Amino acid sequence: MKTFAIITLGCKVNQYEGQQIRQLLEQLGLEHLQQHHSKPDLIVINTCCVTHTASAKSRQSIRKAQKLNPDSVTVVSGCLPVSRTGELSNLGQNIHLVRHRPAIVAYLSKIVNGNAANSGLQGIQDHQNTIIKTKNGLKIKRKNRLADLPKLPPLTSFKGQTRAFLKIQDGCDGYCSYCIIPKIRSCVWSRESADVLQEARILVQAGHKEIVVTGIFLGAYGQRSVRRKNWANQQNDKLADLLDRLAEIPNLARIRLSSLEPADVTGHLLDVLCRHRKIMPHLHLSLQSGSTAVLKRMCRQYSAEEFLKTVELVKSRLDRPAITADVIVGFPCETDADFEQTINVARQAGFAKMHVFSFSPRKGTAAACMESAVSKKVVKERSLVLRRLEAELGHKFRQQFIGETATVLIENSNGQPSGRCERYFMVYLEKTGGKLKRNDLIKVKLVRNAENNSVIGQVYSGDKVL
Ligand code: SF4
Repeated sequence: MKTFAIITLGCKVNQYEGQQIRQLLEQLGLEHLQQHHSKPDLIVINTCCVTHTASAKSRQSIRKAQKLNPDSVTVVSGCLPVSRTGELSNLGQNIHLVRHRPAIVAYLSKIVNGNAANSGLQGIQDHQNTIIKTKNGLKIKRKNRLADLPKLPPLTSFKGQTRAFLKIQDGCDGYCSYCIIPKIRSCVWSRESADVLQEARILVQAGHKEIVVTGIFLGAYGQRSVRRKNWANQQNDKLADLLDRLAEIPNLARIRLSSLEPADVTGHLLDVLCRHRKIMPHLHLSLQSGSTAVLKRMCRQYSAEEFLKTVELVKSRLDRPAITADVIVGFPCETDADFEQTINVARQAGFAKMHVFSFSPRKGTAAACMESAVSKKVVKERSLVLRRLEAELGHKFRQQFIGETATVLIENSNGQPSGRCERYFMVYLEKTGGKLKRNDLIKVKLVRNAENNSVIGQVYSGDKVL
């Protein structure tokens, strides 16, 4: 086996793990091919199953990879094979499912080294449990220590991206009623701060100017549970402490946080954000619904009022921060009045961007058994209303910066160069003279609002705008 390709779907944590798999395979001596249709010997599809759509896209990727490369060995990793939702039946030959995530290193090593006899692989899959036979013939299942299994390597670069995601936490035991993640990533753990800092330094040395700190439940960094009632004083300062140290890394220009819940935004976290300008004034706060009654049925750990209080607090401490949010539309029993409250909260918060998801029941979650489903037609209408609102609020948010200077990290230099500014919106640059390269961090003047949540900008040359 000489070459491999990897396709990763889903969230930032999955993207990070996809890079770890890429790095492991390179360490095992395989060459990484960017295109999976260039006939690699091995293809890894690192899947996602958070929604039906994500599962469908993952299955589609598997089928496409098989069709284009019938002779390649295909390994399906990530969340979908772990979920055992039955969505991976009828796959063809030459496909291996990694059903026990911590076994992936041993599993891939065996495949690469040509020991992929099914019995051997099965042995690795069962590594999570050892069956012990007692003298009287009883069988006892003993859970093996995960620490015994070899781990995926820390990253030395985030290939193909200017911004490097850095995973610091994994797992969730929150059991929000719509979410399947606790069934797939149940064990809540965090990385040692020394390891995180070391990896960040190496990523910076590799040329990454922005690091996005990532986790399944970022605010639970350093805790053994995501449920605040299980924490010593209901507050967690460990994430803020880590950021305080990350921000001291020389040549790291930008730090961004992935998703937080309102209660994760502590006074200490805001102190750290105010102290370090390299931590971007952008917080992604999961709202999900603006109705406290719906939030209760979702088993979220905050009310709509608490959400808005946090937004006010953030706005009082940071200069016009970008607050972005996820919203689920059409959760069971969501009434017109509930939806109206979501609109009100979005308006009061003045979201810079909203990710709008239509609720779809996920087998194995509490919400899948709830009655009073909202009709598809209503879900569609409400989604449309929210998307229009998103466009309106986003436009208003960006408009206040027109005429001001921003810093942009160039992500695309082909055609019209573009990149994200501090507050996360995309800036497309005009009159650049073709001089910009990917990963340049440049000062621009924001000149006008544009389509697709973006702004048009012009580059400074000395003190002048080009
Ligand atoms: S906090 Fe809730 S929504 Fe987030 S991963 Fe855990 S269960 Fe899912």
